[in-house]
Amino acid sequence: MKRAIVVGSGAGGATVAKELQGAFDVTVLEAGKEFRPFTADLSLVGKFRKSGLLFDERMIRLLFPAMKVRKSNGEIVIVNGNCAGGTTAICTANGIRRDQCLKDIGINLDKEFEELKREVPISDDHRKRWHPGTKRVYEICREMGLDPVPSPKMAYGNRCAACGRCIFGCRRGAKWDSREFLKIAIEKGARLLSGCRVKRVFADGGEVYGVEVAGPIRFGFLPADLVVLAAGGLGTPVILRESGFECEDRLFVDPVLCVATKWEGVGQDQEIPMPFIVQREHFIISPYFDYLSFFFNRKWKYPASDIYSMMIKLADTGSGSVSGKKVTKGLTEIDRDRMNEGVSLCKEIFRRLGKKEGEMFLGTVNAGHPGGMLPLTVKEATTFHHDSLPTNLYVADATLFPASLGSPPILTIMAMAKRVGRMCAALA
Ligand SMILES: Cc1cc2nc3c(=O)[nH]c(=O)nc-3n(C[C@H](O)[C@H](O)[C@H](O)COP(=O)(O)OP(=O)(O)OC[C@H]3O[C@@H](n4cnc5c(N)ncnc54)[C@H](O)[C@@H]3O)c2cc1C
Ligand code: SF4
Repeated sequence: MKRAIVVGSGAGGATVAKELQGAFDVTVLEAGKEFRPFTADLSLVGKFRKSGLLFDERMIRLLFPAMKVRKSNGEIVIVNGNCAGGTTAICTANGIRRDQCLKDIGINLDKEFEELKREVPISDDHRKRWHPGTKRVYEICREMGLDPVPSPKMAYGNRCAACGRCIFGCRRGAKWDSREFLKIAIEKGARLLSGCRVKRVFADGGEVYGVEVAGPIRFGFLPADLVVLAAGGLGTPVILRESGFECEDRLFVDPVLCVATKWEGVGQDQEIPMPFIVQREHFIISPYFDYLSFFFNRKWKYPASDIYSMMIKLADTGSGSVSGKKVTKGLTEIDRDRMNEGVSLCKEIFRRLGKKEGEMFLGTVNAGHPGGMLPLTVKEATTFHHDSLPTNLYVADATLFPASLGSPPILTIMAMAKRVGRMCAALA
């Protein structure tokens, strides 16, 4: 059987591996190690922050190695998963279809989304578990005509303890993540090599014939008849560039800013994160306890149980890039204007709750949805393959998105990766 290498085991990689195994003999190369949830008592970490020793978000890796944090030159804290399951292992379980930018260039993924509905447990039936504070904020959003919608969650609801620790990994196995697709691929015969960082792909005569691995655990050359890159919106462009293939400096990241208020005993840190979403033209808002700001931002001085926070997640301008370890990305003036619009909206919600301006504070700008550096256009809408790449080299992650979704992308990445996997299977 011909050999395929899939690089990355997150939303895109695990989906491709599952679709491809059988047609090809699949090896998944994952830079991170096996995922383990962070099980420490978060209130103890919260107390530790007062010591002043937690001064840089990148230090989170010392406590929780699966969470990789870097800073762009524009001072955006960028987070992604570096482990089996990729960023899905640390996600907040939102499973939302957001494929308008793909529809706009003629891509119809209805069939793939229908399949995902059958394969992934998704439900928005969690309102009964919301705390009184969240119920009140939801009502205020309704009164303001903001049309809040309970978030569809990729989870086995009966196992969920609504503990609020999704971004640290789920200890109860309630949250669905892409390791479930990986497991199916492995049961069908695929291999997962973790601790295996792919440096570049080797090509000759318009075809790839293998990859160079330079991980901390394994290194050397691995042969392949097909390579699918799904190393994420920051990982895939680096491999492409190292291999001599150009990308576009159109990186988006979906920047997030939280507006928080003091609210004694509200307990948002111990409830389902992002329980509902308000969709605006250029951003979403959603209740979200921002642990990164809580641990590292001095303005977040109250105990976790006394803070209520709303996230603004922006569909940012695609202007930025990644090269080697350097991420070049900041907010443009348009991004800032839109972010400010979100801040005003969240503050108005808090004012209607009776909160004073002096009780409100902002979080640290962070982001976790990178992509856009090899965007699909009308030209690639049927092939999902760029002419600039060798015929047997494909990409299957958010790198392909023509624009930022400004919204949780996992489901849309998986629908797209399903299509890529099928197209590649036909090459066997
Ligand atoms: C805290 C947080 C919460 C989130 N919550 C949600 C949510 O609720 N819903 C949602 O839809 N989205 C959410 N997201 C975003 C979502 O998880 C990601 O956008 C999505 O997982 C990206 O999928 P991917 O396959 O492109 O990359 P990833 O899932 O990031 O997978 C890429 C994998 O490739 C590996 N890799 C990178 N470079 C190499 C290399 N050179 N060689 C080998 N392996 C490599 C990485 O270790 C990683 O495992 C969240 C993001 C964050 C940070
Ligand atoms: S809220 Fe807690 S139990 Fe529920 S999915 Fe998230 S981490 Fe798991």
